Amino acid sequence: MIIGSHVHFGKEQFLGAIKEAISYGANALMLYTGAPQNTFRSNINNEYLTEALKLMKENNISIDNVICHAPYIINLANKEKAETWNFSINFLKQEIKRCEMLGIKYIVLHPGSSVKHTKEEGIKNIIEALNYLDLNNSKCMILLETMAGKGSECGSKIEELKTIIEGINSNNIGVCLDTCHLNDAGYDMERFDEYLQLFNEQIGINKIKCIHINDSKNILNSHKDRHANIGYGTIGFDTLFKIVNNEQLKNVPKILETPYISKKDNEKELLYPPYKFEIDMLLKGKFNSNLIEDIRNYYK
Ligand code: FE
Ligand code: FE
Ligand code: ZN
Repeated sequence: MIIGSHVHFGKEQFLGAIKEAISYGANALMLYTGAPQNTFRSNINNEYLTEALKLMKENNISIDNVICHAPYIINLANKEKAETWNFSINFLKQEIKRCEMLGIKYIVLHPGSSVKHTKEEGIKNIIEALNYLDLNNSKCMILLETMAGKGSECGSKIEELKTIIEGINSNNIGVCLDTCHLNDAGYDMERFDEYLQLFNEQIGINKIKCIHINDSKNILNSHKDRHANIGYGTIGFDTLFKIVNNEQLKNVPKILETPYISKKDNEKELLYPPYKFEIDMLLKGKFNSNLIEDIRNYYK
């Protein structure tokens, strides 16, 4: 199984990210090349990069299984202010360049929120923006993430993604599924095979290059987008276990984006990553009803 989680791109950049993934027993990872909510980016350090590549080799982590996530503030759907829209396009362009420098082949993007535009206009804006990027000459593929449909989010329905992909003048575009978002968008994950079949008819299963594995805090079709720990949400462990073992998505990296576990230490609230334990559960196929306590004990 190709499985990992999102990790930090901190002081040691790519090297730190790889080290963190290894500490979780992962063979895949997703990183933001800076804080997800802002556009401040430090220069790529080549020494860390070389060391990271060496560490990846030693630990059998393929660069194909390293995914980048574009910052949330990029919104290609809203063209209300030309300046902001152009900023989003340029920032995404720079992010693609950074990925190319790191050798990363996939970058996950939230298609965008149409805000005051209609969804149709929003989708048109996304297509126009992506066509500016000259994806044919990029070594990095953009993966449109399936969204929960919160507010005016575009891309929660298969049909919307299909329209975007068909509008783009390049084949260098794919999709990243997100189980929490799919649930919140109204697709029942207990019937994941039916979703995949529908997806295959409309877009083609070969376009799926990454899948975010998250449980959901909310019920089917809630349009909320709040992730829960594996087995602690409305989707449930058994359903998520079946999805990560789906034969048709065998070679697709599975990435966890579940919430950190909080622990009160005197007055301070500390947060611990659940990924080592969640990956272990998914590899073993056995739900751990003591997950939260185990994590708190492990990191004490
Ligand atoms: Fe995302
Ligand atoms: Fe996601
Ligand atoms: Zn989400």
